[in-house]
Amino acid sequence: MFDWYFKTNLLVRILIGLVAGAVVGLVVGPPIEVIEPLGSLFVRLLQMIVVPVIFFTLVVGAASVSPARLGRIGVKTVGLYLATSAVAISLGLIMGNVFSPGRGMDIGQVAEGVARDVEAPSLVQTLLEIVPTNPFAAIAEGSVLQIIFFAIFFGIGLSYLQISETERIKSAGDLMFRFFDGGAEIMFKIVGWVLQYAPIGVFALIAVVFGRQGAEAFGPLAIVTAAVYIALILHLVVVYGGLLKLNGYSLVKFIKRGREAMITAFVSRSSGGTLPVTIRNVEGNMGVKRPVFSFSLPLGATINMDGTAIYMGVCVLFIANAIGIPLTGAQQVMVVLTAVLASIGTAGVPGAGAIMLLMVLNAVGLPVTEGTPQALAYAMILGIDAILDMGRTGLNVTGDMAVTCVVAKSENEVDAEFWKD
Ligand code: ASP
Repeated sequence: MFDWYFKTNLLVRILIGLVAGAVVGLVVGPPIEVIEPLGSLFVRLLQMIVVPVIFFTLVVGAASVSPARLGRIGVKTVGLYLATSAVAISLGLIMGNVFSPGRGMDIGQVAEGVARDVEAPSLVQTLLEIVPTNPFAAIAEGSVLQIIFFAIFFGIGLSYLQISETERIKSAGDLMFRFFDGGAEIMFKIVGWVLQYAPIGVFALIAVVFGRQGAEAFGPLAIVTAAVYIALILHLVVVYGGLLKLNGYSLVKFIKRGREAMITAFVSRSSGGTLPVTIRNVEGNMGVKRPVFSFSLPLGATINMDGTAIYMGVCVLFIANAIGIPLTGAQQVMVVLTAVLASIGTAGVPGAGAIMLLMVLNAVGLPVTEGTPQALAYAMILGIDAILDMGRTGLNVTGDMAVTCVVAKSENEVDAEFWKD
């Protein structure tokens, strides 16, 4: 058994864990929750690696390119992230209009105190908080954007040390560079070990989700689930497929090389937690070089959430329909604008998108406050959040990888050998 486990291909094992988990979860139902710690262990192991991976790789990445080039990579990456998110939310709205989930439910009549007063953070504050007041606290707390911000400065400073004319400073710079380079390599060794545990973790995570919510997702909210998943798949095939093709990549090869990260995102429901695996796939299977991915992937795991944007589009329409006040065209334009911002502000952790959905609902005049019908409709969506979160996180991470490949191509930072067969 032990032998079989370690000799079988990792992806095959993970897929077995995935399917078996879903089946066992559906069959056993809620009592399956006893195995939840096995899933949590996997997620914790991944999270353990995130901060050091970001810090080590980004410092080395920023130290390896000129600030001007880093700026150019940054502009391209952020531009593509924003553009794809805007398309994603539009697609979510289109699917929402086509499927009209919630139409005819008229939840307004039955609304009773389903309380959920959750504050969405303000945009200005979110932007200001990118600058850490104490970088060590940022590292200790795992604030990804703050770590990125500081690591870029640190890396650029390091690159200046390396070209210094003073021998003492130059050798200190070289030593530091080797230190961070070694740190990054060590972290990737650990990622490989953690992934050996992935099949068991995946099994537990999926079994618990299906045991708890499987039946519900296939019940009255099936249309919401279907609309979200169809939009996610369309976005993958049409938007990423198109972008990749335009840049000379094949979507099928891309999926094959990135599926470890996609599955990890799907089951862990956290872009941030998946980051070490995302980096491993992009570097090890797609041949993208460090100057691009060390910046684009941590950033993407934090701000690029196309799956979340799609989910927001569908769910806003569901809620509006369910309470019998369908959204006007102008309101839907408003949704596009706010959902792009909300998806940027969404943290790459499980369930974060559901909190940011509140911001979008506020913007279209449907604030979720105690006793309102929209609070009830929102609570219904929350009931199946895990199922929706799996798909949207999978797409979030896929989007980070797709944009990274595209930017890498334009910067000549991808090894063509990796795409040969
Ligand atoms: N769980 C998602 C992610 O980590 C965020 C969300 O809840 O939409 O990417």
